[in-house]
Amino acid sequence: MRLRAFVVVFQSMKDSEIPEAYRRLREVVKPWQLPVVVDLARHGATPYEILIASLLSARTLDTTTKVVAPRLFALANTPQKMIELDEKQIVRTINAVTFPEPKARQILALSQILIDQYNGLVPNDLEKLDELPGVGRKIANLVITQAFNTPGICVDIHVHRITNRWGYVHTKTPDQTEIALREKLPRQYWIETNGLLVAFGQNLCRPTSPKCSICPIYEFCERIGVTSHR
Ligand code: SF4
Repeated sequence: MRLRAFVVVFQSMKDSEIPEAYRRLREVVKPWQLPVVVDLARHGATPYEILIASLLSARTLDTTTKVVAPRLFALANTPQKMIELDEKQIVRTINAVTFPEPKARQILALSQILIDQYNGLVPNDLEKLDELPGVGRKIANLVITQAFNTPGICVDIHVHRITNRWGYVHTKTPDQTEIALREKLPRQYWIETNGLLVAFGQNLCRPTSPKCSICPIYEFCERIGVTSHR
């Protein structure tokens, strides 16, 4: 045990340890619920549904998005059908998510842009998605990875926190983490990173008091910033 503690103090996750760390992460997350957008993508959601669900899920619990998104898609699951809806009707339908009024306006505005500029289709392009109302880099990365299987790294609070705890990156913001991971993490791991680390972060490497004592990648982790753990 002493030796283990000694090693961890001086070791951060190395590039050579990533394959084994990811193999263990894939195993440990199997029983856990996938993030809602990843789950929708695996069940055949369209790129438009993935885009709208991603926007709805911002700062909203997955359990809420999971109920609200299908409710909205039952009314409109294409940009053409969406712009036929009244803004108040959208607000009423998505009322359980955070910021329903701005999100309803953004959904209508981006649907109109998709019709006007992209023939009603969601572009498989990070920069074009990033420019849509309500869509920042996090959602843009989520959409290209989940809707199109295009390599991207969706860095949310979990990915940012965990990769810094590992000592794999040393960054202050999620945007910096995305840049650092794009430079460092082999491309073959990009798409799965968000789904793995969100599930891992919600269940084991939690924001406060992570469960380090039962962590399958303990030996690879520097535990930077972890002041208390279980
Ligand atoms: S649970 Fe602990 S040991 Fe595991 S990745 Fe998180 S901080 Fe590192």
